[in-house]
Order: sequence, then structure tokens, then C-alpha cells
Amino acid sequence: MLKNKEFLYLLKSTAIVFIVSAIGALGISLFGYNFIASFLILTCIQYILFSTISSVINSFFIEKTKQKELEKIENLSTILNCAYCNQQNLMTFLPDDGENMEFVCDHCKKKNSVKINFIVARITEPVTVPKVEGISLEDI
Ligand SMILES: [Zn+2]
Repeated sequence: MLKNKEFLYLLKSTAIVFIVSAIGALGISLFGYNFIASFLILTCIQYILFSTISSVINSFFIEKTKQKELEKIENLSTILNCAYCNQQNLMTFLPDDGENMEFVCDHCKKKNSVKINFIVARITEPVTVPKVEGISLEDI
């Protein structure tokens, strides 16, 4: 549903398109061509042009937004044990990286493959202790 502001914008842009078409058609009609035909052709050309321009601009901004989101992803660092010698290694990787993640052990120089594993856990809730009637701390 169009809001009031959007409706005014649509009305304004349509008026501009019609005015430009009318002026252009008037100019063309001075050369002996039909005014109404020129007006309709100019209006069609403007709508095609503007829809093309707006789709190009939209796709440009969508691409820009994607790039900004990718830039937000920072490198993650973690300490991993080598699969061969079990020594600790510091590994830095991009979470967006679609390739196989690997690191070379600093100690034994062997290549390790890294697999990310997601673990699901229950959220612990505080235990509610039932209130016992008739006993107070002073009685104990
Ligand atoms: Zn190692």
C-alpha cells in the first residue's frame, strides 16, 4: 500500500514525465509530426529509461550492501591442537571462507584440516525451590 509521501512522489514524478513529454512533443510537432503520437512515444521512452536506470541503481546498491556485510566479517582466531603432535597452534581464518580450512602445525610442520562443528545445548533455567510453610530460619 502506498503511503501519502510515496503517493506524492509518484504524482510529482509522473507530472514531470508528462511535462517533459509535452514539451518534447510540442517541439517535434513544429517539424510537422503528430503531437499526440510524439507525446505517447516520448512518455514510453521516459518510462523505459527510468525503469532501466532505477533497476541499475537498485542492483548497484544491493551489491554495495553485500560488500559492506562481507567487510563486517572479521577474522576469527582460535587455538587448535595439531592432529599429529597434539601441540597448540594459533589459527586465524575468515568465517565466510568457503574453501577447506587448513593450517600447518608450527611444531611438526604437518598440514591439518579444520572442520567447524556446531554444538547445541540446553539453556539452564534457575531452579525454583518450593516454599515450605511453617518453617523459618529461626526455628533451625
Ligand atoms: Zn603438529
